[in-house]
Amino acid sequence: MTTSILRFVLVAILLSPFSAFAQKLPPPETKQLQGPQNPRLGFIIHGGAGVITRGSLTAEREKQYRDKLTAALLAGYKALQSGKSSLDAVEIAIRILEDDPFFNAGKGAVFTADGKNELDASIMDGKTLAAGAVAGLHHVKNPITLARAVMEKSPHVMMIGDGAEQFAKTQNIELVDEKYFWTQSRWDSLQKVLQQEKEKSTTPKPKGLSENLSELPYNKFGTVGAVALDKNGNLAAGTSTGGMTNKKFGRVGDAPIIGAGTYANNETCAVSATGWGEFFIRIGVARDICALIEYRALTIQRSADIVIHQKLQKLGGDGGIIGLDKFGNIAISFNSEGMYRAYIDASGKPVVQIYKD
Ligand code: ASP
Repeated sequence: MTTSILRFVLVAILLSPFSAFAQKLPPPETKQLQGPQNPRLGFIIHGGAGVITRGSLTAEREKQYRDKLTAALLAGYKALQSGKSSLDAVEIAIRILEDDPFFNAGKGAVFTADGKNELDASIMDGKTLAAGAVAGLHHVKNPITLARAVMEKSPHVMMIGDGAEQFAKTQNIELVDEKYFWTQSRWDSLQKVLQQEKEKSTTPKPKGLSENLSELPYNKFGTVGAVALDKNGNLAAGTSTGGMTNKKFGRVGDAPIIGAGTYANNETCAVSATGWGEFFIRIGVARDICALIEYRALTIQRSADIVIHQKLQKLGGDGGIIGLDKFGNIAISFNSEGMYRAYIDASGKPVVQIYKD
């Protein structure tokens, strides 16, 4: 009799949610996290999220986007295939997009309210958790390369403005005249937004938090990012942007904020984000997705959907993410109309997508 009571008590303790044994039980989604023994290569890029509906792009413009995304995707993927690191692949692909005037990064950066181009970027190494970020640049042709130099050649994580550009000089990183970043279409966008702002200033503003944010409608897109998994199982992520049209007073978005726009950790996942930065910063989007994998053992897609479609949506932000987990599983999640994106699928083929459907 005493023995069976003892047995009952023991079983009850073991099954109790507070028991160390109970906590060792696998959480419900752990199974879905398993992947190949040796991680396969993984590569995914984005060219920004925003109001991109079918019909909003001419066939010619759509082809130009698709071609450029394909070129950047294949360049990064070939680097991985040839044995280069995930950091190399991320930098290679982002540089290609930074050099293209269609994307809001590098050459095609949008204008600030003062009619300047102010560039931000970041990169993170999932193996060491080393990270580099730069913000408020006016002369650096490829901010992603400077971000990587901050990570690899300095004891710091983030550098801004003139100081960052001084550091660029010491690293022989290419600097260009500010005029290099001037493009007609981005200039026209600024004029349009300034005009809208003028018209809005005559109408009453909504109350509360949205009062400030409503002055910054997120309707521009083109930030670029890349996420890679190399043959050694190392994840990396990077993001580069000109920010948001009409940004004011040295505004910095999520792209150069480690944990918001970019995050990578070999234990969980790597993520690059794009969208209305003020919201992504407040949620810590990229890190939050990896944290859900770490703490709740959710799949990367489920984690991304929770953060984008529940948390970000609830707060009123829009945009999206691309990500890879440590097994090479891909995640794409966005609550905007579209997101330029391209990835190498499980069979090794390139896939380029723009719209929601
Ligand atoms: N996230 C960027 C920013 O807020 C903008 C974008 O992704 O389009 O600066």
